[in-house]
Amino acid sequence: QQSPDAGLLHNLNPEQLAAVTLPAEHALILAGAGSGKTRVLTTRIAWLLQTGQVSPGGIMAVTFTNKAAKEMMTRLAAMLPLNVRGMWIGTFHGLCNRLLRAHYKLANLPQTFQILDTQDQLSSIKRLYKQFGIDDERYPAKQMQWFIGGCKEDGLRPAQVVVKDPETRKKVEIYQLYEEQCQREGVVDFGELMLRSYELLRDNDPIREHYQRRFRHILIDEFQDTNKLQYAWIKMLAGTGAHSSVDGAFQPTGCVLAVGDDDQSIYAFRGARVGNMTDFVREFGVKHQIKLEENYRSGSNILDSANALISNNSKRLGKNLRTAQGPGEPVRVFEATSDFAEANWMVDEMKQLVREGHERKEIAVLYRSNAQSRVIETALFNAGMPYKVYGGLRFFERAEIKNALAYLRLLENPRDDTSFMRAVNFPPRGIGARSLELLQDAARATGCALSDAVSGLSGKAGANIGAFLAGIEVLNEQRQGKKLKEIVELVLKHSGLRAHYEADREGADRVENLDELVNAAESFVSIEGFGRDVVALPVDELGNVLTQSPASQGLDLNQPVQDIPAPDLETGETLSPLAAFLTHAALEAGDNQAQAGQDAIQLMTVHASKGLEFDCVFITGMEEGLFPHENSMTDRDSLEEERRLMYVAITRARKRLYLSHSQTRMLHGQTRYNLKSRFFEELPEEALKWITPKHQGFGGGFGSAGVTSNSGATHAYHTSARGQFGTDYSKYTTAAAPVPVQKTPPGGLQVKQKVFHAKFGEGTVLSLEGSGDDARAQINFPRHGVKWLALSVAKLTPVP
Ligand code: ATP
Ligand code: MG
Repeated sequence: QQSPDAGLLHNLNPEQLAAVTLPAEHALILAGAGSGKTRVLTTRIAWLLQTGQVSPGGIMAVTFTNKAAKEMMTRLAAMLPLNVRGMWIGTFHGLCNRLLRAHYKLANLPQTFQILDTQDQLSSIKRLYKQFGIDDERYPAKQMQWFIGGCKEDGLRPAQVVVKDPETRKKVEIYQLYEEQCQREGVVDFGELMLRSYELLRDNDPIREHYQRRFRHILIDEFQDTNKLQYAWIKMLAGTGAHSSVDGAFQPTGCVLAVGDDDQSIYAFRGARVGNMTDFVREFGVKHQIKLEENYRSGSNILDSANALISNNSKRLGKNLRTAQGPGEPVRVFEATSDFAEANWMVDEMKQLVREGHERKEIAVLYRSNAQSRVIETALFNAGMPYKVYGGLRFFERAEIKNALAYLRLLENPRDDTSFMRAVNFPPRGIGARSLELLQDAARATGCALSDAVSGLSGKAGANIGAFLAGIEVLNEQRQGKKLKEIVELVLKHSGLRAHYEADREGADRVENLDELVNAAESFVSIEGFGRDVVALPVDELGNVLTQSPASQGLDLNQPVQDIPAPDLETGETLSPLAAFLTHAALEAGDNQAQAGQDAIQLMTVHASKGLEFDCVFITGMEEGLFPHENSMTDRDSLEEERRLMYVAITRARKRLYLSHSQTRMLHGQTRYNLKSRFFEELPEEALKWITPKHQGFGGGFGSAGVTSNSGATHAYHTSARGQFGTDYSKYTTAAAPVPVQKTPPGGLQVKQKVFHAKFGEGTVLSLEGSGDDARAQINFPRHGVKWLALSVAKLTPVP
C-alpha cells in the first residue's frame, strides 16, 4: 500500500498542489489553457476520496460535454480502485436528468418521461400552431423556441414573465400552451431539464436538504460557460443562497470548486455569462483564488501565438501563461488556392505525420463552421484515411443531407420505401402517422412498394400522400435534361427543404450544409475512365480537375475506386450522374467509417474542441468571413468571442500546429475569393513558419502532362515533382491547367433529336455529356423512361 498522497500528488507543481489540497471551502481557479485546470479538478476528487474526507457519493462534478465526463471517469478509475459509474459526474443536463428520474413524482413527470432535442421541440411547437391556429408568420415557431428557451434560462415560467406589450402577451400565451402540451405528452426539452430540477430542489425542502447534505464537494469545470440558471442551481445545491436553511437547524456545508478561463468563454450566444466568475467570488465569499501560470501542453511558439492573439481583447480578467518546454516547433502557415487544394495538402501532410509515427487520433482538424467538413471528409475518404467527426455528424449523415438525399433517391427509384418514409412528411405536409400506417398496411397486403400502394388509399390520407407522389413526379419531369447540380437545386427548392431550414432561426448551419450538397454535386461532374473503373474527380467551373491525379493520391489507376458498373454491353445503358452521385454519397457515408476504438483522424468544430488536446492540430479556413465568421465581424463583442474561439483552437495543440487559408472557397453555392484572416496579423511573426510564401498570388511551377486518350479527349493528370516522402507544396498552390472541353456534340447527336434504339425503341435526346469514349446521352424513351446511354456502346440510329 502506498501512502495516500504520494502517488496522486507527485506530478503537480506547487500551485496545483495547493489547489488540489485546499481545505473544504469555496475556491476559484482562474487560469489559461493547458495549465492543468482539469487535471487539478480530477486529482482533487481523487485526493478527497483517498484521504477519506468524503465518500464517492458526496461528490458532484460537472463537465461541459459527455466526452469530457467519460474522460474524467477514466482518469479517476486509473488513480483509484473505484466504481466511478455510480458517481455524480456529468454534464448539467445529464445530472438534472438523473435528479428528475429519481424524483419523478415530486417533479410531476411520468417515470418514463422523454427528452426532446431541439428539432423535436420545434416540431412540437409547430403542432401546437396548427391546433390553435397560431399564425407562423406573425410568431415564427423558431422565434418562439428561442423565446421559451430564454425564459427558462432565466428561470421564468409563463406567469412570471413581465408582460409589457401585446406582442409579449401573445408569446407568453403560446409558452403556456406549449408547457401544457409537453406536460400532457410527458416530455421535457433541454431547458426544462434544468429548470424543472431547479424547481424540484427549491420547492421540496427535504429533497433539497438531502442533496445539500449529500454533496459536500461540488466541482465545476469550464465555469466561464455556465448560464444564469446553472449558476443559481449550483448556488442552491451548495446552500449559499436564499435556500440555505429551512428552520436554521441545518447549515449546509457543501463547498464549490469552480475552474475556468474567461478567455475561453465561447458560448455567450447560448446565454453563458462570464460574469458568473466574479459573482461567484462575491456571493460565495470565496477565500481561495488560485492562478496557474505554467502551461504544460505546448511549446512557446504555440503559446506565444495564443497569448499575442488574445491580448487584442479588451474584456479580460488578466492572467499570465508561460511554458517551460522551450520553443517547440514553429506554427506552420499554409496558403492554398482552393478549399480542395487545402484539403489535399492536409491529407498528404497527415500521411507524412502518420509515417513519422503519430497516431491518427492525435491529429485533429478544427473548423469554424460545420459545412467546412465536407471537402475535408471527401479528401480523407479518397485517401482511405479513417476519420471520426465529433460533436456533429459526418456530412452525408446529417439529417438535412439525408432528407435531401431521400428526395434524390426517390427520383431515381420511387420504390425506395426508406426514402419514401423519410421524405413523405418532411417538411411537414400534414400526413399523419395514422395515414402512413394505413399505407404500410396496404403495401404489406399486396406486397408492393409504398408508392404503388398509394392509389389504393382513399379519403384524406390518399389525397395527401397522392399529392406528395405527384410532386415527386413533377420533379422527375422537371429534372430531365438538367445537370446534376441543377437537379439538386431543383429538389432543394421544390421539396420545400431549403425553405423549411431557412425559416428555422437556428437552421443557418443546415442551410449551409444544403448549399454544400449543391457544391458537392457540382464537383461531381468529371467521371474519368468512364465505362471502366470510375474515379470521380472534383473540377472547377472551367472543368479543371482540382484534385491531383489518382496516382498522386496514392491510388492505383487500375484499381477500382468506386464500384460503379460499366454500361450494359447489350444496350449501352449506364448509371445516370445522379445515381452515380448517390452511390458516392452512400459509400462515403458508410465506408471508411472509423470503427469504435479504431485509430482515426479527429474532425470537429472549434466549439467542440474545448478542453481537449492533440499532438497535431490543423486549423483550417483561416479567412475573413469564415474565421472570424461573417456574422461577427462588425460588432466588437462578437469579434472578441471569435478571438476567444481562435485562442481555444490554437491552445489545443501539443506539438505541431498548422494554420491554413485558401484564396478561393465554394461557399453558399458560389466561389468566394477570401482575404486571409485578420488573426494572422495578430500572431507574432517569429513564431510562424510560412510553408508557402507569405504574400503570394497564383502561379508557380508544377509538372503537368496532358494525357491524350485515343479518342482525342484530354484529361489532366497532374504529375508532380514530389518524391516518395518529400512534399512538393507547389502543387497545391497552383491553379490547375485547363482541361480542354470538347464543345461539339458527341456522336453527331443533338439535343431534342429523335433516335431509335433496338431495345428501347424511339426516344428523344435530352442532354449530352462527355466526349469520345466517354460520351453519353440522356434519352427519354416513352415506353422505358429516361436512360443514360454510353454512346460508344449503344447503337442509336437517328430518326428523321
Ligand atoms: P484547458 O483550458 O484547455 O481545458 P486545462 O487547464 O484544463 O486546459 P489540462 O487539460 O488539465 O489543462 O492539462 C493540460 C495538459 O498538461 C494535460 O496533458 C495534463 O496532463 C498536463 N499537465 C498538467 N499539469 C501537469 C504537471 N504538473 N506536470 C505534467 N503535466 C501536466
Ligand atoms: Mg480543461
